[in-house]
This record gives sequence, structure tokens and C-alpha cells, in this order.
Amino acid sequence: MKKHNFSAGPCILPQDVFKEASQAILDFNNSGLSILEISHRSNDFVDVMEEARSLALELLGLEGKGYKALFLQGGASTQFLMTAQNLLSKKAGYINTGTWSSKAIKEAKLFGEVVEVASSKDANFNYIPKGYDIPTDLDYLHLTSNNTIFGTQIKEFPTTNVPLVCDMSSDIFSRQLDFSKFSLIYAGAQKNMGPAGATLVIIKEDILGQIEREIPSMLDYQIHISKGSMFNTPPVFAVYTSMLTLRWVKKMGGIAAVEELNEKKAKLIYSEIDVNPLFQGFAAIEDRSDMNATFKLVDGDLKEAFDSMWNEAGINGLNGHRSVGGYRASIYNALSLDSVAVLVDVMGDLERKA
Ligand code: PMP
Repeated sequence: MKKHNFSAGPCILPQDVFKEASQAILDFNNSGLSILEISHRSNDFVDVMEEARSLALELLGLEGKGYKALFLQGGASTQFLMTAQNLLSKKAGYINTGTWSSKAIKEAKLFGEVVEVASSKDANFNYIPKGYDIPTDLDYLHLTSNNTIFGTQIKEFPTTNVPLVCDMSSDIFSRQLDFSKFSLIYAGAQKNMGPAGATLVIIKEDILGQIEREIPSMLDYQIHISKGSMFNTPPVFAVYTSMLTLRWVKKMGGIAAVEELNEKKAKLIYSEIDVNPLFQGFAAIEDRSDMNATFKLVDGDLKEAFDSMWNEAGINGLNGHRSVGGYRASIYNALSLDSVAVLVDVMGDLERKA
């Protein structure tokens, strides 16, 4: 039986995508060949790459606005360094909202001066800093739109003339934003887009080519753009599966429709956390993530009972990250409202039994 998968990533993808991707492993496009055994230079795969790149821009509303989409390898973690290596000549600003921002800051320091413009480290990253002043002499300001571990999400992005770079690994394609506010967006595929192994990078081309350092080819955005995201062998299956998921988002009615469902799911889980006296949310209410709901049991003695109840209900992946503890319900695009209702029922049952 299919589990209710609340895993933080890799995570649930649409069931239809799993089916279509498995079929392509056996026979891709009725070619008599598996997607895993064809050349990445074959017309069939070049079409996949081009569709994935153009769907990404289309869904984000960035077509014809000077942006390019790339599917690279090395995870979002490689983007921590590539962004700085390609964009940081003197000074960059970072908003530190958790583990992933901190890692991005560490890598950027290898390439120039880094200013931590704001941080929520003082409260174990349970909120999003606001009202900070952005120095005007920054090469870029780096933000993390959704903090997967702590369950916080930026609801309003700063307005500034400084180019914005954003790690959207855990909420890309989940909500409508004015994506043209950003000069560079990156996201590991393994949340809302596909299997681990591909990283989507969306770049406004005019921010490139402004630094003097030499960049190794594999780490140079301009080289990847000039080669149509095919400088070397791309992660063929991860790109194909991401393309299928992007088609699914489009078929669902685009980001707007997906967002509507995501809001319903988030409302359902957070109202239970707020109403049920046995549970307590982790993140500041106004900064709660619509993708990762973090919470804990007020009375730790109920852990054993609660854990066995959700396990029995067919729920998977609910344990919180070790730096926060408690529980984390990741409610990415492909998770149904029904799955969230199953979890909420279990939480209610615990209250009735306790
Ligand atoms: N940024 C965020 C917001 C993440 O959630 C993660 C992974 N969970 C990463 C970066 C790191 O991604 P990767 O493992 O693809 O390097």
C-alpha cells in the first residue's frame, strides 16, 4: 500500500510521474530503448532537456525576460559556491535563516567579503528576520526562501536595487511569486521537482560576465548556458523525471492551482497544531512554511504512543531534523490533502486517547 509520505526530501512526487518514469526505463518513447541507455546527444533526449528548460521558465513566468534555465549536477550545495564564484567580486550580503544559509555563507567567504545582513540564529532560526537595511554596495543579496529544517518561509522579499540570489530548493513551483525580482534562483530537484541528481538554476543573463577571476569550466554558468545545459553528460534520468513533474504542474493549472492546494494543506495541519493542546509549533506563526510544518509534543512521554499511531496509519518521514527535534510534516506539491487529513486524524486520536 502506498504510504502517506511526509519526507523532507527526497520526497513524494506525483504518482503519475513515477509510472511514466518507470515506463521510460523499460521503453522510452516506444524507441525500443531505455531512457537510461540512450545518448544524451540523441534527438529524443535533447528534446527532453529543451522542454524541461522551457517549462521551468514558462511556469515561473520568466519566458522572454532575459533568463536562462540550466539543469546542473552537484546539488544545491554546489550552487552555494557557484553563485559566489560567478557573481562575487567584492562584497555579498547574506540573510542567515538556517543551516543551508549558513553553509552558503561559508562557501561564499572563499571568494570575497561576506556581510551577514540579518540572521535569526539568536532564536535557533525559528523566524525570518525583517526590517533590515541592505547595504547598497553589495554584488548580490542571498536569501533562502524556505528553510526546510526549521519550517520557516519568507513571505515578503525585500525591495532593493541589489541583485537578489535565492535558494528555493524546498519551495520552488509551490507558490506564486514575482520571480522576475530575482537575478538568480537555484533549487535541488529532490523536493518539488524530481529525483536527486539535478539542480535547476535560473539566471538572468545580464548579471554574468562581470567578474575577473578565472572560473573552471564545469563551474562557469556562461559555459553551461552556451552549451544549452549540455556541456557534459547531464543527469539524464533526473532531468527527464523533472520534466515530467513540470508537465504535471502545468496540467494541474500551473503554480497558481498548486499553490491553492498547498495553502489548504498548510491550513489543515497548522490548525490542528494550534487547536490540539498536545502539540506545539516551532516556527513563528507569521513565518510558518507552507512546505515544512515543524512541531513537537508538549509532553515527550507521549512520543512512543504517537509514533506507533502514525506508523500504523501508513505515514512515513515525520521525524524532525536533529537540530530542531520533534516532528516535521513536509507537505510538498505532490502530497494530497487526504494524506494531511490522515495525519491530522492521528493527532486528534492521540488527544482523545491521552
Ligand atoms: N538548500 C535547501 C533549502 C535545502 O533544503 C537543501 C537540502 N535539503 C539544500 C540546500 C542542499 O541541497 P543538496 O543536498 O541538493 O545539496
